[in-house]
Amino acid sequence: MEGIEHLLDYNRAWAKRAKVQDPQYFDRMAHEQHPSILWIGCSDSRVPPSVITGSEPGVLFIHRNIANQAVHSDISFLAVLEYSVQVLKVPHIVVAGHYNCGGVKAACSDTPAPDLVDHWIQHIRDIRRHHQSELLAISDAEQRENRLVELNVVEQVQNIVHTTIVRRAREAGQVIAIHGLVYDTGSGELKHLIEA
Ligand SMILES: [Zn+2]
Repeated sequence: MEGIEHLLDYNRAWAKRAKVQDPQYFDRMAHEQHPSILWIGCSDSRVPPSVITGSEPGVLFIHRNIANQAVHSDISFLAVLEYSVQVLKVPHIVVAGHYNCGGVKAACSDTPAPDLVDHWIQHIRDIRRHHQSELLAISDAEQRENRLVELNVVEQVQNIVHTTIVRRAREAGQVIAIHGLVYDTGSGELKHLIEA
């Protein structure tokens, strides 16, 4: 089994390079952060937010889970949202789904996933049921799954809009744009689906 030494080797070289390029870099980074975007993405290894958006450390505040869900009963997501909105006061929230998402693919299948994953993706099975006629009209299985990826992004954006955290902030005059994006794993391109 391959170890993780290569990660530590890369890190040492990266930190050294960053310090040479900007001797104050880590002094600044150590004290505070001012990210402008809360990014909610899938845990999938092919969709690293900083890499695909060219974002330097300090720009994205990130929450990831299977199939980029913003679930009203998920205390981890809610704590991240609350901190982003109330303390960091991010002007943008992004929900980023991606085509060929394993979580969405599993939700399209009636074969159960591993127990906890299966429980987690029930929310996506609900979205599938709500859009059953549109999805059943798509004959190609991959296209059908990718459409559910898009519908899931739109649903999660609406979930965020309806949280008390966002509603109260907006009522108090805070400006927050909530964007739904989908990443095409085949081309590397991000598509803007919705803003709410
Ligand atoms: Zn995924």
